[in-house]
Amino acid sequence: MQFEVLARCPTTRARVSKMTLAHGTTMLPTFMPVATQAAIKGLTAQQVEALGVTLILNNTYHLNLRPGIKVLQEAGGAHKFQGWKHNLLTDSGGFQLVSLSKFTKITEEGAMFASPFTGEPTMLTPEESISIQHAIGADIIMQLDDVVSSLTVGPRVEEASERSVRWLDRCIAHHKQSGRREVQNLFAIVQGGLSPELRDRCLDEMIKRKDEVAGYAIGGLSGGEEKDVFWRIIAQCAQRLPDDRPRYSMGIGFAEDLLVCVALGVDMADCVFPTRTARFGVALTFKGPLNLRLSKHAKSFEPIEADCPCPTCSSGVSRAALHHSVTLETATAHAITQHNIVFQARVMGGARDAIMETRFPEYLRTFFTNYFGDEGYPEWCVNALRSVGVDLLEGKPNAKVQKGDGVKWEYSDVA
Ligand SMILES: [Zn+2]
Repeated sequence: MQFEVLARCPTTRARVSKMTLAHGTTMLPTFMPVATQAAIKGLTAQQVEALGVTLILNNTYHLNLRPGIKVLQEAGGAHKFQGWKHNLLTDSGGFQLVSLSKFTKITEEGAMFASPFTGEPTMLTPEESISIQHAIGADIIMQLDDVVSSLTVGPRVEEASERSVRWLDRCIAHHKQSGRREVQNLFAIVQGGLSPELRDRCLDEMIKRKDEVAGYAIGGLSGGEEKDVFWRIIAQCAQRLPDDRPRYSMGIGFAEDLLVCVALGVDMADCVFPTRTARFGVALTFKGPLNLRLSKHAKSFEPIEADCPCPTCSSGVSRAALHHSVTLETATAHAITQHNIVFQARVMGGARDAIMETRFPEYLRTFFTNYFGDEGYPEWCVNALRSVGVDLLEGKPNAKVQKGDGVKWEYSDVA
């Protein structure tokens, strides 16, 4: 991996960088769409490519179950299997084990789970996770970490954080002896729950291993914790992680979360939210999400967003037409999915341009004004951006601020 910081925001900790991997260059900050089963639901690899996306995420857990490693190896890796020419990141499989299987048992050796097909007990070790990711052939691979919900408290959080460091060492050793370090880049995952002390200890240990890892992820968040706690952990981790390594916030996809994370120094993020919510009929826009299933769109003859370059908006499909067919036609879900992927890319591309042109604070202020409009700014966003020198309320004595975690959007009842 070649990683080069090209520009820094003089006010916030945001930066623009260029990450070159075996399958091309990706400019950061970026949002990575999630292609769970080696396909973004509803779209072909060529369609995703045409939207300008250069880095996607595949789930190791799902690929390992189906089509399975043997098929992927015969195909020559996941890139060839899915016809994807650009960069690819795979997770370690650990998160799905914990979230999808209630029988998963974590031991020092690895994660023991019941195979969803045969029911047989199956062990995923750190070494095995790396071997599977080698067979998949992703450009960025993730360590197996010991994942606990961000709502877990007590000694289990400390145990998971410390075990994640030990498992990182096993992943490093296994990756090193594979001879694949030139083409596949291992990322560490910082754990430590919501405790600043545990996060610091995990950061200390993982930063010591800097020469052995290509980048760092911030894990263990986006699990229902309070947003005011979430951003403080992101800020702590992003500030301490080495400047010459990319920083990846896992499971972040709301536009306001993405921009706050970028301002705090994050370079990469992924989430199923933009594509999943599209399948429920919700289109993301710079004026907030639109639930196209609501009858108020039945006579709205404008596109989702007039200035959007996505295939859906630029072909002039009206909100009314989408509303009419959203529950009937899978093609409508695909049309909204394409729009939402382009929306995420525009939010992040706009951030990159603004950082390069030293106007990122203005970009943030404009975005938040348009996006939250009369609803009022979420208080946690105001607090987070103030911590890096941007005051959303400056010059706006009448601006509204929402307490708690922020707006309950139109998608909240359907997504
Ligand atoms: Zn569009």
